[in-house]
Amino acid sequence: MSNKERISSIAKLDPQISTLIGAEQLRQQEKIILIPSESLTPPAVREALGSVFNSVYAEGYPRAAMRKSSPSSLAKLDQQLACYRRYADWRFYKGTEFADLVESLAGRRAAQCFATPDHPAERIYANVQPLSGAAANLAIYEAFVDPGDTVMGMALTEGGHLTHGSEFNITGKRYRIVSYSASPQTGKLDYSQIMQLAKKHRPRLIIGGFTSYPWQADWPEFRQIADEVGAIFLADIAHTAGMIAAGVYPNPIGYADVVTLTTHKTLCGPRGAVILSTDPGIAALVDSAIFPGEQGGPHVNKFAAIAVALATAQTPEFKDLQRQIVKNASYLAEALQEEGLTLAYGGTNTHLLLVDLRTLVNDTGFVMMGEIASRILDLVGIVCNKNTIPGDQRGRRAWNPPRNPVGHTAGNGEARNGDPRANHRQGANLNPSILLSGTQRRVIPRKASAVYS
Ligand code: PLP
Repeated sequence: MSNKERISSIAKLDPQISTLIGAEQLRQQEKIILIPSESLTPPAVREALGSVFNSVYAEGYPRAAMRKSSPSSLAKLDQQLACYRRYADWRFYKGTEFADLVESLAGRRAAQCFATPDHPAERIYANVQPLSGAAANLAIYEAFVDPGDTVMGMALTEGGHLTHGSEFNITGKRYRIVSYSASPQTGKLDYSQIMQLAKKHRPRLIIGGFTSYPWQADWPEFRQIADEVGAIFLADIAHTAGMIAAGVYPNPIGYADVVTLTTHKTLCGPRGAVILSTDPGIAALVDSAIFPGEQGGPHVNKFAAIAVALATAQTPEFKDLQRQIVKNASYLAEALQEEGLTLAYGGTNTHLLLVDLRTLVNDTGFVMMGEIASRILDLVGIVCNKNTIPGDQRGRRAWNPPRNPVGHTAGNGEARNGDPRANHRQGANLNPSILLSGTQRRVIPRKASAVYS
């Protein structure tokens, strides 16, 4: 082994970290991971992430013309390098000729993934620099609202994200937040109520898109509400981007003024985010909000990994996978309900679902809580997260066992090879009995409407 090989091997250089990586790899292989915001990143994406691009500093952006070039013209390396020598770029560093190409390619592939017949890729602007979904959302605030302005989003406790105005987040501290929630009667958004709220409070920014609301968004309704009050409409598709790229969830392009998405959830890419828009003025505001407004040097290695993930997202296999994920979630929902469990929001038509644990009570009157349920499930090899649910006034936690979006776990792998109904019914059978093991199980049947009261 050469000296170079010796020091590049984690096992030789740092056996402790090497052991931890091995252990985590095994955990991911052995457990059924049902966390909706996670996916098992494909090896090619991880290879790009670990590439030499990690060593490059590239504050700034590629030339505008390069960012707009088609993927086929970006592939003409000699021509692109000649342009770089002649025009350079808008960076503060030299040595970024290849960084420019990976950033531009990642952006163009993002545009291809979310293009619609009315909004082709050539007319979509993409910024692939946000370090994660929260950073992307903060850049939108920075670009379009001033401290103290009114912003409307879904409450964190009802299914929204921290950055949609939670009191614990900078957004909740810096802006005047008006929150909407799902209807207690139907478990779904009532767009006429959101319209009334908007007319009353006249927000400057309206955020559509959710973290744990399991129903599809109605983008035309959000557009109408934003138009009525003259607000900017942000569609946050952090969770649903993979399904949208596959055509199994409505696409907000053409309705939203600006779209934020993460690349590591259903898109199965590296940890990162993308901001899309169809208006050059909005795109320019977004660019300067990200850099120099919020961030310094972008993660160039991540551009390469995003580009790989977005190429994969355009394959028939990825589309099949996303279709299967949605089917799996609905099979699981059906099976859990047949087991006597109540689903928060009444069900799902996306990749995630939440069980209302308040319906799970043992003989001593103990009501199951999200932390305990998720620990027990982890012990038996099923990884979920706990989450608040609408009307969760007593601070009880629900667990949130959506489908793992990537299909590399045993559960999804089996489901894709066999009859998903059979597999997910098996999984569902486990849950109530395991959660109350050792006690006589009593599931309190309640109608969905009563749960929210
Ligand atoms: N927006 C939504 C709707 C999310 O669900 C999340 C994360 O779960 C984010 C933004 C933030 O993404 P990140 O964790 O990458 O900052």
